[in-house]
Amino acid sequence: MEQTRNIQMVDLKTQYLKLKPEIDQAVLDVLESCAYINGPAVRDFQASMEAYHQVAHVIPCANGTDALQIALMALDLQPGDEVIVPAFTYVSTAEVIALLHLKPVMVDVDPETFNITPEIIEAAITEKTKAIVPVNLFGQSCDLEPIMEIAKKHGLFVVEDNAQAIGADYTFADGRTRKTGTIGHIGCTSFYPSKNLGAYGDGGAITTNDDELGQKLRMVANHGQTRRYYHGMVGVNSRLDSIQAAVLNIKLRELDNYAAARNRAADFYDEALSGVSALVTPKREPKSNHVFHQYTLKVTDGRRDDLQRYLSDRSVPSMIYYPVPLYEQDAFKGFTDVTHLPVTHELCEQVISLPMHSELDEDSLQFITDTVRSFWS
Ligand SMILES: *Cc1c(COP(=O)(O)O)cnc(C)c1O
Repeated sequence: MEQTRNIQMVDLKTQYLKLKPEIDQAVLDVLESCAYINGPAVRDFQASMEAYHQVAHVIPCANGTDALQIALMALDLQPGDEVIVPAFTYVSTAEVIALLHLKPVMVDVDPETFNITPEIIEAAITEKTKAIVPVNLFGQSCDLEPIMEIAKKHGLFVVEDNAQAIGADYTFADGRTRKTGTIGHIGCTSFYPSKNLGAYGDGGAITTNDDELGQKLRMVANHGQTRRYYHGMVGVNSRLDSIQAAVLNIKLRELDNYAAARNRAADFYDEALSGVSALVTPKREPKSNHVFHQYTLKVTDGRRDDLQRYLSDRSVPSMIYYPVPLYEQDAFKGFTDVTHLPVTHELCEQVISLPMHSELDEDSLQFITDTVRSFWS
């Protein structure tokens, strides 16, 4: 095999070089303008995001974790109120719940989609439940229509954690489609550089179609201000900076192309790996067009860690998202009574994510899949 092969989990450099002249100019324009905070670039990006998502309000903020925290702060919840959250997700989703002295009620996920389901949610609802935070994990929407119906029935808020699924569509029973992040009462996303829409630093955004919530979210994100130096509540300071907004405004135009490139890579992986008996390729729900933030396989013969070492020795990077259920994290001891969820437990032992980004070429995909297959031959 060639010595020079350099396969990466995420290739930010090649993606940048394709847009370099435009992005460099946009960044220089912000530097020249000196409008570093809430400048025109932020307003332009907000408007582009609202148009792209067909949503009434986009509130840019500093990162995806802040987006989730601000969303929960805008709901006027009381200490001890219960918020249903999957145990198989990135830490942020449950972290902000605990941080606000709410109770994260950790639930299991579906073994095929890795997402929480209406049935799982309904079984976890109690008198104290106030909100649900479905995570559209790895780029695929939860089954949001029945989740919204359950929420309505029980008077609960739904805050979508859409950090991994920006750009995905969800199809309702009547055939309408809407962007994920705009279906729950509030949607939260992240522009961490390796996310599907990545900034060149930190960034995040909150989406809502509810005018009152939109106002409240803006207020929370801006020190609880109604007008300058008048503070109606205790808020936070969370802003998307103008340089990041300028970069994102250019990259947003490419988001659908990026998703298409990720899907082409996923198709290649599916085709090349579906015949390997110890592997389960990711399930694609027809109601959701997957945007493949991650391409995540299950290794069912107990050799996941051996596979990862084997790949690593052959210059094929891979990642385990996620190795530890949230209820086993020391951080959440004292916040949850959950000690075991069978699907989450099994997924943490079985999953492995292969390189996935918009710049994967056939050569690399062939090498990656040949290497994976050779582990079992
Ligand atoms: C990345 C991510 C976040 C947090 O976003 P940051 O911008 O890193 O704060 C939250 N939830 C999920 C599911 C994520 O993948």
